Amino acid sequence: MTRTVGDPPPAPKRSLAGPVIPPGATIGILGGGQLGRMTALAARRMGYRVVTLDPGADGPCAQVADHAVVAALDDADAARRLAGLADVVTYEFENVAAAVAEALEEAVLVRPASRVLAVSQDRVREKETFADLGLPVAAFRGVASRAELEAAAGAVGYPCLLKTATGGYDGKGQYWIHGPDDLAPVFAEAAAAARGVPGTGAAPFILEARVPFVTELSVMVARNPQGETAVYPPAENIHRRGILHMSIVPARIPPELARAAQDLAVQLAEGLDVVGVLGVELFLDGDGRLYVNEFAPRPHNSGHYTIEACVTSQFQQHVRSVCGLPLGSPALMRPAVMINLLGQHMPRVQASLTPLLKVEGLHLHVYGKAEARRDRKMGHITILADTLESALERAQHAWALVRAPDDPPAARP
Ligand code: AMP
Repeated sequence: MTRTVGDPPPAPKRSLAGPVIPPGATIGILGGGQLGRMTALAARRMGYRVVTLDPGADGPCAQVADHAVVAALDDADAARRLAGLADVVTYEFENVAAAVAEALEEAVLVRPASRVLAVSQDRVREKETFADLGLPVAAFRGVASRAELEAAAGAVGYPCLLKTATGGYDGKGQYWIHGPDDLAPVFAEAAAAARGVPGTGAAPFILEARVPFVTELSVMVARNPQGETAVYPPAENIHRRGILHMSIVPARIPPELARAAQDLAVQLAEGLDVVGVLGVELFLDGDGRLYVNEFAPRPHNSGHYTIEACVTSQFQQHVRSVCGLPLGSPALMRPAVMINLLGQHMPRVQASLTPLLKVEGLHLHVYGKAEARRDRKMGHITILADTLESALERAQHAWALVRAPDDPPAARP
């Protein structure tokens, strides 16, 4: 289009905060699992189009997206094709190669930025960032050799936990060290297991002091390009065999600690200058001290409760923030309990559909994965009630219907 002198100048394409990406535009999602699916559902409800990059043509996100680019997540050409179709690109999986996200930044808005992704992918950089921001963390050291491990254990004390710096998830790649005698065998085991795992940091491991936590918490926080933040109530999380089993909201902690946990999450979001949703995991010890353990720059499993329990879900909030829109209220409308449904639970879910769906206040989510492998996240249930006690009771009832033969009878330890 030609412009004649005297015409008003064209609006600048990007303000300082970036453009508002309106409904009708296309959101690209790197990764095609359940987090992408629930983000895509929230996006489509608001009139966005969604394109996903995933190795499977019929994955959880591809099933509900407008278009899928079918390729490996580290396929830079495929990621560029996705970027060519999208007005903004986000990710639902933090092991998307940060280098791929960084390359895309030249062509398209990537939110959260690749530098945030890179911090979350390396536990040493992550903990250093927390410490630099003044957030409380367990004592830690980066470890690259057997000698460094010995020195690090001397510094942080026993017991301590050796974790691979990159690539670990759901408690994998973690080794407890109870005393000096464990150093050599643990290092040998960890080094053997880590061989072949691509490292992004200088130190392939991090050694952390044990936090004698009484409760594991997580806080979802969203931040938009204008710098507005919205923080959700902390969830109390129960893990089984390293996998999130249950989230209880509100967490059963004093209100001042809940506020302190929320403040830490906001400090992190602001300190990282992030645009998007973060899931921040924390420990609470018996003396009322909070420690920030890790974060994910995306919606989080422990935030699924927000779909039904909060005014604005974490997924809608993610869409709002990456599209430069005002954030919605994160207020909790009703207490909620979320239970993950793993591969081993699905036969029971199928067999118990009628009584399960009759549990008052229960919402069933199934992610559309073809193969129900053991420990694979296949879906979740969220149970709402007027009081947390009642939600927990209903959750026990639901758990009795879906638990696998080798699961404990009570949903809580
Ligand atoms: P992560 O992969 O860092 O989330 O760790 C997985 C699980 O290991 C956590 O949910 C905790 O139960 C436990 N854990 C991790 N780091 C520590 C620590 N420094 N002290 C005690 N337990 C930990």
